[in-house]
Formats: sequence, structure tokens, C-alpha cells
Amino acid sequence: MKIAIYPGSFDPVTNGHIDIIFRASEMVDHLIIGVLSNVKKQPLLTVEERIDLLKATTKYLKNVEVEAFSGLLVDFAAKKNATIIVRGLRAMSDFEYELQMAQTNRSLNKNIETIFLATNIHYSFLSSSVVKEIAMFGGDIHALVPPVVEEYLKSKFK
Ligand code: ADP
Repeated sequence: MKIAIYPGSFDPVTNGHIDIIFRASEMVDHLIIGVLSNVKKQPLLTVEERIDLLKATTKYLKNVEVEAFSGLLVDFAAKKNATIIVRGLRAMSDFEYELQMAQTNRSLNKNIETIFLATNIHYSFLSSSVVKEIAMFGGDIHALVPPVVEEYLKSKFK
């Protein structure tokens, strides 16, 4: 049974993340979305809010679950019997950091491989930060996030 982890902050989940989640879920038997609860950057949403939004938008994917984690990713992966870490790559700017993380994680646990999925061309500019900035100033985020996230941010910034 192939189990993969897709880790991130998801503050909040965007259509770019959803695209990666869907594609990864087709490649493995079970996909765990790992929501980082001790992020260095101060998140807008609590870990519970981020998890609720992810659950609401992925509930139709039967082999996907959402869970919080803190500490080392490789330890979380080992605890969940996952052998694959999934990350999305948007641009060269992501690459250097992602390569360093993949190599670090492999040096910590050689049984866990990181795989990268190239962003859907429609979402290559999209990040949670961009979404938050637009929403904060009352801009239209309809095409960028799932409807439940749009509603959530609208009420948050009202
Ligand atoms: P982190 O704080 O770990 O970078 P994010 O929530 O920003 O967490 O992103 C989680 C993962 O999703 C990362 O691998 C990131 O590169 C990827 N990702 C974010 N936005 C997109 C997008 N628009 N298209 C593809 N992958 C994305």
C-alpha cells in the first residue's frame, strides 16, 4: 500500500493546492495532507480552521485524509507509514528551497522519497499569501480558491 504525505501550511488552501491534492490522490493508495501547526510565519488561520477548510474541500476524495503535525516531517511520515512526500513546484524560485528540503529529508530517512508535481499552468502564480492580500483589500478571489474558502475569507475580512 503506497501512502504519501502532502505537507504544507495551507493558510488557506488554494486551487493550486487542490490541483496537487487531486493529482497526487490518483497516484497513491492513500494521501495524508499534513497541516503544519508550528509554522514560523504567523498564520492567518488557526490549524483547526485550515484543517476544516481542507476537509470541506477534499471530502469527495475517499483516499485523502487531513491531519495536523508538528516537528520533523520525516518523523510524521514514518509514524503514518508513508514512504512518499509530495510537493508542488511553481517556479524556479521554489526549486532551491524544495531541493534542499528533499535532500535534507532523505538524509534523515532514506526510505522516504520526495516527489514533485509541476503546477497547473493556470495556478503557477497562485499562493496563499497572494490570496490573503487580495481578500484583505476586498478583491475578487473567486477563481483562486474553493467556494468555502472564499466565503470564509470574506467573512473574516468583513
Ligand atoms: P509551505 O509553507 O510548506 O510552502 P504551502 O501551503 O504554501 O506550504 O504549500 C504547500 C505545498 O504546495 C508546497 O509544495 C508548495 O510548493 C505547493 N503549492 C503552493 N501553491 C501552489 C500552486 N499554486 N501550484 C502548485 N503547488 C503549489
